[in-house]
Amino acid sequence: MSTAGEQAASEAARRRTFAVISHPDAGKSTLTEALALHAQAITEAGAVHGKSGRRAVASDWMEMEKARGISVTSAVLQFAHRDRVLNLLDTPGHADFSEDTYRVLAAVDCAIMLIDAAKGLEEQTRKLFDVCRHRRIPVITFVNKWDRPGREALELMDEIEREFRLRPTPVTWPVGTAGDLRGLVDARHPETMLRYTRTPGGAHEAVEETITAEQATGEEGTWWEQATEELELLREEGAEYDRDSFLAGTSTPVFFGAAVSNIGVRLLLDAVVDLAPAPGPRELETGGSRPVDAPFSGLVFKVQANMDPSHRDRIAFLRVCSGVFERGSTVIRATSGKPFATKYAHSVFGQDRSSVDTAYPGDVVGVGNAAALRVGDTLYDGPAAQFPPMPTFAPEHFAVARPADVSRSKQFRRGIAQLDEEGVVQVLTSDLRGDQSPVLAAVGPMQFEVVSHRMAGEFSSPIRLEPLPYHLARATDAAGGEALNGSRLVRGEALVRVRDKAVLALFPDRWQANSFERAFPDARLDHLLAAHE
Ligand code: GDP
Repeated sequence: MSTAGEQAASEAARRRTFAVISHPDAGKSTLTEALALHAQAITEAGAVHGKSGRRAVASDWMEMEKARGISVTSAVLQFAHRDRVLNLLDTPGHADFSEDTYRVLAAVDCAIMLIDAAKGLEEQTRKLFDVCRHRRIPVITFVNKWDRPGREALELMDEIEREFRLRPTPVTWPVGTAGDLRGLVDARHPETMLRYTRTPGGAHEAVEETITAEQATGEEGTWWEQATEELELLREEGAEYDRDSFLAGTSTPVFFGAAVSNIGVRLLLDAVVDLAPAPGPRELETGGSRPVDAPFSGLVFKVQANMDPSHRDRIAFLRVCSGVFERGSTVIRATSGKPFATKYAHSVFGQDRSSVDTAYPGDVVGVGNAAALRVGDTLYDGPAAQFPPMPTFAPEHFAVARPADVSRSKQFRRGIAQLDEEGVVQVLTSDLRGDQSPVLAAVGPMQFEVVSHRMAGEFSSPIRLEPLPYHLARATDAAGGEALNGSRLVRGEALVRVRDKAVLALFPDRWQANSFERAFPDARLDHLLAAHE
């Protein structure tokens, strides 16, 4: 093993790269802040609590960033805890951006699923969990807001098991009901109880005190008895933490707490260090996998332009998968086989946009000057590597885009091409429509809002959008496309996706797609990956 390989392996072992997934309002930003507070990445929490009217389009962290001036791009928060380096990646909160979420989840090794104690499993939790299952990402569950009246703990465990087919294995268990939190029991030390005294406003870590079972029996009486009985019951049912099934994604260690008061957060943070897996070998498209001690390889999971209005540059967010990333080195872009010079590389968290000279597996770097890079790209050094492509979801919303002001058609074309490359929407076209009126295809309609906003703001080309009456897309080929466009019997249209030249057959509904299949039994018509499968 080379020295660089050894270094990569030992640094990888120290890394924990994860994301928090939750339904909006379950407390993701509060928990993020609480985690950062416990890891001493910030000194006081409270800036983002109680915010209202915030748009889901903006990163939650942007608010925090503005309030504190701590981060530049908000894509990843890096902090140390014990002797580990934690990388917490931000995921968009809204279902319309599930494609982005999927991409971020391609860059993490573990997810924290945050559940509101009163609401249980909500719609967005389900969708995000489905993505984790699909990607086989281990999930740690945190039941939040236990300081408020909510559901029974056992009932929540049942819900997780029944609805997610995921065996909950509580690591901490609440003493007292939701709304009257007396403390927590750590299932690994059931002979003691942890009691908390929150600080005013939850600005600092809550004071944690360990008391004996005897003391707990005396002071908490039936609450303590109930908690220990419930834990015993769970143990008898085999709900003890099990590393293999957790890593396989079939069981989930569960923690309870209240992020707003910093209760249970330290235990969760310790769990990320102790339970979450370190970066490991990554599967390659060509079969086999690339171990962390192999020469450098990285995956581009997000591309964003114009983040800094004074520099119209494009940043590619790269998750280092193997080896050592060194700024200034020239690596290979797998899809084109062409060299790419990593002249500019930034940490994506810090007081300012500081340069990063070295990064290790699990880390995320923002690579600047990245006009040539696309979401899903693999960069590597040494033996060739290509990670599996990022899936594109079946779009369900379609609209024709036109420049509001035709004299700005150059800016219009440039902007649309840029947003396509970033993966903000899919851009479809046909010879008939031409590039002055491309069709935008989205998984969720909020993607269109982002396009309109950015076209006007960044590209000085406001657009008009005219919705098309299609809601179903299937993959076909050139012959199938011609058949559809030539047919008078079926309502639908075939368009070519600019990004990869795939031919998509669009229909108003399933019935029209079925009619097409009956009319042209030889035509190819394949299902695309549904956004929420
Ligand atoms: P996000 O949309 O998931 O990022 O949620 P936020 O972190 O913005 O939290 C939504 C609301 O829930 C805010 O008013 C928070 O103060 C509140 N909140 C978050 N965590 C807790 C908690 O542990 N207990 C209580 N009572 N409220 C909480």
